[in-house]
Formats: sequence, C-alpha cells, structure tokens
Amino acid sequence: MSSKIFRSIMAVTVAVLLTALFIISGVLNSYYSDMQDDQLRDELNTASSAVESSGVSYLKQISSKTYRFTWISKSGKVLYDTDNDASKMENHKNREEVKEALQKGTGESRRYSNTMLRKTTYYARRLPDQTVLRVSASTITLGATILMMLQPFLFVLTVGMILAVLLAHRLSKRILEPVNHIDLTNPLTSESYDELSPLLKRIDHQNREIHGQVLEIQRRQAEFEQIVKNMKEGLLVVDPSGRILSVNPAALNIFHISGDVKNNNIITVDRSLDLSKALKDAYSSGHSEIQKSLSGRIYQFDISRVCSSGNVLGAVILLFDVTEKAAAEENRREFTANVSHELKTPLQSILGSAELIEGGIVKEEDIPRFAGRIRKEASRMVALINDIIRLSQLDEEKEIDKVPVDLYKEAEEVVGQLQDKALSRHVTLSVSGDSAVMQGVPRLIQEVIFNLVDNSIQYSKPEGGHVEIRTGKNSGGVFLSVKDNGIGIPEDQLDRIFERFYRVDKSHSRRSGGTGLGLSIVKHAVTLHRGKINVTSTLGEGTEMMIRFPEV
Ligand code: ADP
Repeated sequence: MSSKIFRSIMAVTVAVLLTALFIISGVLNSYYSDMQDDQLRDELNTASSAVESSGVSYLKQISSKTYRFTWISKSGKVLYDTDNDASKMENHKNREEVKEALQKGTGESRRYSNTMLRKTTYYARRLPDQTVLRVSASTITLGATILMMLQPFLFVLTVGMILAVLLAHRLSKRILEPVNHIDLTNPLTSESYDELSPLLKRIDHQNREIHGQVLEIQRRQAEFEQIVKNMKEGLLVVDPSGRILSVNPAALNIFHISGDVKNNNIITVDRSLDLSKALKDAYSSGHSEIQKSLSGRIYQFDISRVCSSGNVLGAVILLFDVTEKAAAEENRREFTANVSHELKTPLQSILGSAELIEGGIVKEEDIPRFAGRIRKEASRMVALINDIIRLSQLDEEKEIDKVPVDLYKEAEEVVGQLQDKALSRHVTLSVSGDSAVMQGVPRLIQEVIFNLVDNSIQYSKPEGGHVEIRTGKNSGGVFLSVKDNGIGIPEDQLDRIFERFYRVDKSHSRRSGGTGLGLSIVKHAVTLHRGKINVTSTLGEGTEMMIRFPEV
C-alpha cells in the first residue's frame, strides 16, 4: 500500500516537475531572447550614430564583453572588430545579415554553435558611407536552459522523493490503521473515515447473513444428529482407507461395542472378509449389499459409495435388522418345499395305483382295495389343500369381526361332531366346567377346539382313551383345556409342534391322515383372538392343551 502511494506521488511529482521545467525554460528563454534582441537593436542604433560621426575611434573605446561590434566595408572586408584582429578575419560579404543590410539597409541572422547549446544573434545596419556596422551577442539556447535547470530540478525531485516516502508512509498508515482495527464482529461500531463506511456496512450485512446461515446449518446438523442417534438402523461412515468417520449408537449396539470407535479402522469393529469385499465392491460399482449374522440376528449391510466432484470421499454403511424378514423368507421357502413334498407323496401313490389298474396288473378282486387307496390319498390331498387355504386365510385376516362366543357350547358342538370318530377308536369324550364367554369368531373357535380334540383322539392309546374338555373363567379371563391320556409328546419337541408340517411321528401322522398343519392353524387362530396356548405333556401319559383368552 505504502509503495503504491509512493509510486503515485512520485509519478505526479515527476510529471509536474518535467512540465514545469519545460514551461519555465521556454518562457525564460523566450523572455531573455526578446530582451536581448531589443538591447542589440538599441546598441546598434547608438553605435551607428556614433560611428557615423566619430568613426573607428568610437568602436575602439568600447570595452563591452557582452556585445561584439564589427565594422565591414562595402566589399565585405572587416574594417574593425571589437573582439578580434580585423586583418586576420575573412571577408564578411557573404554573411547573411551583411548581405541583407547591404541590400535592404538592415539585416539580421542567428547562428547556433556546434553543440547547439549557444546561439549568436547578429544585427547589421548599412551606414550612409555604404559600410555596414554589425552588432552581435550570444546567449544560451532553450536546450542549454533546460540543461541548466536540470540540477535544481534533480534537487527538487530528491526533496520530492523524500517527501513522497514520508507522505506515503503517513498516508498508508492513516488509511490502513482504521482498516486493521475494524471489529469484524461489530463493524459498525468501529471508528473509521467516511470512505470506509460502505465497506463496514457490507461487512455487517454479510455478518448477519453468515450468522443466519450458520444457525440454519447448526439447526440442520442437530436435526440430522438427532435422527441418526435415534434411528434403529445402524449407520457407519468410513473414508476410503477404512477409517470410521461417524458411527451411531445403533451400530455400536449391533456390533456390541462400547466406547468410542471414531477414527479407528473398520476392522476393529468387524474384521470379516465379506465386509471388506463388500466395501471394495461398493467403491468399484457404487453400491453393494451383504447379509451377516451378528449375535443371533441377521443384518443387511447396505453399502453406498460417496463421491464429490469425481473424488471418492468414502462409504456409508447402513445396517438393517432383517431377522424377521429373513425368517419369513426362510419359512416361505420351507413351506413351499413342504407343500410340494406333501402333495407329491399322495400324488405318487395315486399315480402308481392308477398305472397298475390301467396296465391290468391288478387282479379284479384287488381293484376295490386300490380304488380305496386312491380315494384315501386324494382325500389326504383335499385335507392338505383345505388346511393350506385355511392358513392363508388366517394370514390375510388382520381385522376380524368378533361376537360373544361361549367356549362351553362350542366344545359340546365339537364333541357331537367327533363322537363317531372317538367311538371308532375307543375314546370317550367329556365336557365339563362353566360357561366361558369371550369375543371371537365362532367358526374359528370351533375349528380350534375341533383340531385339539381331533388330535387327542388321533394320538390316543389303542385302549381306554379319554379326552376331557374343560372350560371356565379365572382371574386372567376365560380358558379351555383339552386333556388326554394319549401317547404324549417328547419334552424337547413341545416348542416345535406348532410349526407348519412339523410332526413328532411322521408315519403315525400320515397314517391317520394328518397334514401337520392342524396346530399351526390353532396357534394362528388363537393369536388372532389375542389368546395364549400352553402345552404340558408327558410321554406315554398324555397331553394337555390349555388356551386362555381375554374375557369380554
Ligand atoms: P397332524 O396333522 O400331524 O396332527 P398337527 O399340527 O395337528 O399335525 O400336530 C403336530 C404334531 O403334534 C402331530 O404330528 C403330533 O405328533 C403332535 N401332537 C399334536 N397333538 C397331540 C396330542 N394330543 N398328543 C400327542 N401328540 C400330539
């Protein structure tokens, strides 16, 4: 700043001084030239009169160093010269001023020295005796005047330079001091000069804008952090070297980590090869997904590359708990495989029997037996398909229209339906207890009781089977119990009997036409009624299924 001001002052000083130098030199030079010309003419007039009257004696007594007088004859011969020996001087006839004077009476001319620094002015006058008197004087030229002025000019310039340095320093200090002391937070309170106030106003305006933007960014940041902190999905942000830049509490929870892992490498959290491979895949293709089992739960890792202006900044890893989804998917796969298998077995049997009859291999008297097998397998298939339909219907039934249902009455109804089957298997059925009214769908409740009693008949011992159905109320609500003295269920399989197609003894179940879906339907229907089912069983002694429903 200071050197800029200095340069500006110096440029102005030099320009002013140079202009002044030329103007002053020109004016001075022209003034002195004019003055000298007038004096020369006066001197010539005076000397002419004197020479006319006194001749050479006048010239001889002149002692002036300023003016030089030369008296020249008509032929150009120098008669007398105040500065030189006339006899040694050359003929002056051709001198411009002499020629002019001889012709016109007066003549003048100017001649410059070789260096052009001096000029001599000549004035000549023809005297009555046809001689010519000439006066001359020399002065400095404009160039010489300028050269003469150069020294004082350089002096002034030096002084100007010193002043310029001081002034520049002072000025820059005065300009910059208020600028350096601006309070950038409260610019309008700063002391300054008028020219600075627009700048201060702009800084103040920008301050307010920046402050607003910072508040907005902070608000969004806090909002974002709050969301990330509270989301149940895990979130990890890593840089391309694998350094963890950000991690939310859910992710720490998923990896069972306590403490700060920020800035640690991702391998300190999970050193599995499939994660590092998935990260590599995400960096090369933009996105990758893997599923990993962590502490008994299944998590989906969604990895997305983060880029800015073509540069890879890192990756975001989102962790979703997909245990239920994966289990449902697994169930669906298993269910489809089981259904196919369950359908294939009776179909193969039907196909085999039909082929044998068709090929005439079966004897006439055996045909009813084969036809009976075909009917039995076909009805097993129908039962299976019915159960599948029931299950899918129950899956669909989210909201059910409930009406008061008395479990006691429904139990009596079921006993009526299954009496024949029980008799054929030497099983006695009994219903006891009190009326137990709950809110439910009669058709579904009947189906639940039917399946339980049917199983009890089905898995009874060959002789002396008894199934006891009890209903009633207690503090928790209403209950229904179906207790038998049948074959019982091994303890380690009690949890599994409600799974679809699960049977304790496959051949027994098949033989008796079971589909393996009865208890799944029961469980489903009970859950739809917000009920709970509990099994107690002793192998070889019997089983009790206890269902509790909330009261009306
Ligand atoms: P299933 O059509 O085979 O009877 P369920 O889903 O109704 O299929 O029952 C599943 C399995 O639970 C049965 O195969 C059987 O092994 C066992 N089970 C169910 N009820 C009883 C019971 N009262 N006594 C003994 N075992 C039973």
